[in-house]
Amino acid sequence: MSNLKVDLTAPNGKKFTLPTGLFINNEFVKSSQNLKITSINPTNEQEICTVEAASSEDIDRAVAAARAALNHESWRDITGTERGRMMFKFADLIEQEKEILATIETWDNGKPFSSSMGDLESVIETIRYYAGYADKIHGETIPTISQKFVYTLKQPIGVCAQIIPWNYPLGMASWKLGPALSCGNTIVMKPAEQTPLSILYLANLIVKAGFPPGVVNITNGYGRDAGHTLASHLGVDKIAFTGSTGTGKQIMKTASINMKNITLETGGKSPLLVFGDADIEQAAKWAHGGIMSNMGQICTATSRLLVQDTVYEKFVNVFREVVKTTSKVGDPFAEDTFQGPQVTKSQYDRILDFVESGKTEGATLTAGGIPCPLNGKGYFIEPTIFTNVKENMKIYREEVFGPFVVIVPFKTEKEAIAMANDTTYGLGAAVHTKDIELAHRVAARIEAGMVWINSSNDSDFRVPFGGVKQSGIGRELGEAGLAAYTQTKAIYVNLGQKI
Ligand code: ADP
Repeated sequence: MSNLKVDLTAPNGKKFTLPTGLFINNEFVKSSQNLKITSINPTNEQEICTVEAASSEDIDRAVAAARAALNHESWRDITGTERGRMMFKFADLIEQEKEILATIETWDNGKPFSSSMGDLESVIETIRYYAGYADKIHGETIPTISQKFVYTLKQPIGVCAQIIPWNYPLGMASWKLGPALSCGNTIVMKPAEQTPLSILYLANLIVKAGFPPGVVNITNGYGRDAGHTLASHLGVDKIAFTGSTGTGKQIMKTASINMKNITLETGGKSPLLVFGDADIEQAAKWAHGGIMSNMGQICTATSRLLVQDTVYEKFVNVFREVVKTTSKVGDPFAEDTFQGPQVTKSQYDRILDFVESGKTEGATLTAGGIPCPLNGKGYFIEPTIFTNVKENMKIYREEVFGPFVVIVPFKTEKEAIAMANDTTYGLGAAVHTKDIELAHRVAARIEAGMVWINSSNDSDFRVPFGGVKQSGIGRELGEAGLAAYTQTKAIYVNLGQKI
């Protein structure tokens, strides 16, 4: 490899050239400390390639580039309509390259290719949605007294650090890039060290779309170094983070150094409630998708299935059957694969530790819970179901982040709500019932940022996404997502001489 590019052929035969540098000021550059990240294919445990990783000096450079771009007329003074046009072009370029981007995502992350293609659709929609908003962000006039004219401006927050996770690398990048660019901010994004590749290919498209240098900078790097430097950087005005609750708390503390604006989207242990009158086949189907999709690596995964005692046994049987027939584990590039490998060895080990914990604490392992390698390799785990789970068990309380679910019975609506809310998290929740009154009553009482009635894990770029309690602060997506990237300035104009 030379000049910070590598020619690659993916397992599905797609050939492409991948930039491997840090993306600063619209150029790919070397790490000042020669730091590297080696990306591993979780399907066969082999190295894909090595990319540059940011040192704290590199982060300083990226932040300086973002600051300069924020104050440069090529970005500061253009109209919202022009910003929107660049974003529409960016979305078109992503659309043209979506197969390559999805290929890189599947290769690096292990998610089924069909899921990566679905992610790309959502990336394109999200960028277009926020492109449309770029010239519709405005303040208001506020009538006070006749001698004063008062109006507000919605201005960008400034230099935004965006720290993203490995479960939806491009998806999470688009949720953050879309609103930040629409509102006229500049960005330093740090992808997760487990999945550094697809975002580098995306960086090429930033240049092609015509964004001025420094508007978007992408610095791969390690959380404890590059991530921490960003969170503590005095030149950063805002930090937007998606990842684990522990890291989110750390970032919140670090960000206090200059009182950064923060948006956090963190962990979950979301409940899915099945009431006695529910359509059990439908409930089981949604429960399956809600926990087993994306290898269970979803912050909103409905990982606690709470089922009314009158239908508990029936539900467990139907759910097991759905898992058995739908959760085909295998090569993520194969068309019939539902579940690929976990993203890394450490995530894989962590899930297997939870299996041991469940068994030790006396729960019943009803299905899965064992490795299922492909040709002796890869971080594959059979979809795992535990029953006879008590509310004090670790597997009931902690986020596993894998294809791992617990099923617990409840007797009454009151008990179901109490159990659903008996968690430090509050991201998503699902309610299955045919009783419309019950559904809305329970939806209102559950402590969560999102509730799905008779489904699970619906998500839409037009609808606010986020958590309560220790699942986060602020909202992404929808119109609410813009609030995270603007600040309001009030301007008073004195019209009279008397006051
Ligand atoms: P996981 O434990 O699943 O890897 P994390 O929450 O640690 O999830 O990681 C999410 C993102 O946060 C990644 O981009 C990671 O590099 C980054 N990160 C990890 N630790 C820190 C930290 N102390 N400060 C800032 N970013 C961090």
